[in-house]
Amino acid sequence: MTEVVVATTNAKKLGEIRAVFAPLGLRALGLGDVPGGDAIAEPVEDGATFEANALLKAAHYARAIGRVCLADDSGLEVDALGGDPGVHSAYYAHGLEEGPRVAREVRDPANNAKLLRALEGVPERERTARFVCVMAVADPEGNALATSRGEFEGRIGEAARGANGFGYDPLLVLEDGRTSAELSPEEKNARSHRGAAARGIAGALLEILRG
Ligand code: IMP
Repeated sequence: MTEVVVATTNAKKLGEIRAVFAPLGLRALGLGDVPGGDAIAEPVEDGATFEANALLKAAHYARAIGRVCLADDSGLEVDALGGDPGVHSAYYAHGLEEGPRVAREVRDPANNAKLLRALEGVPERERTARFVCVMAVADPEGNALATSRGEFEGRIGEAARGANGFGYDPLLVLEDGRTSAELSPEEKNARSHRGAAARGIAGALLEILRG
């Protein structure tokens, strides 16, 4: 197996990426699997696009660890909100200042509650939305080596449903009426933004890592 460091502190993201990469001969290591990885300070994700943030994260961790790193930047675009929360999805409720200090278990329900409030009174046909995921690979000098993008279309429901996944999964209603949080991990990966981005970058990543 070829090993790649996935620069994320989100265990759910890492699990999803790991499941896509494993059958392709790629073993995804988390920051906790590399010496000192857990102690690296998180970069400020102040890029204007998913691409900019993914590259910023990949380069930050690759420099700190001294190895090629892959990073994932993702979020939810809601058409009725002009694309918000977009790159601010993780810290939608708490803001970029306070957000990084708030636990995920607190942030996720607060984000979902804020989104439902923002869409109060918006009819179903206007609640179209998508998850976007951009993955980027950088070398220890901070050079960008590859990027890949995936999207996952749905509509924002009227209430949270389902216990799988993370973040806004309980709010994204798919064509078949289930939410993303009602899919099994395998089903989500087969259809999701992250699954598509991971499959899209795997070939380039294997070439980079195997030289
Ligand atoms: P990031 O860690 O800065 O990329 O922020 C990603 C944020 O977007 C997460 O905290 C979630 O709020 C949201 N998000 C991204 N991908 C997903 C997903 O697969 N399901 C649900 N929410 C997601």
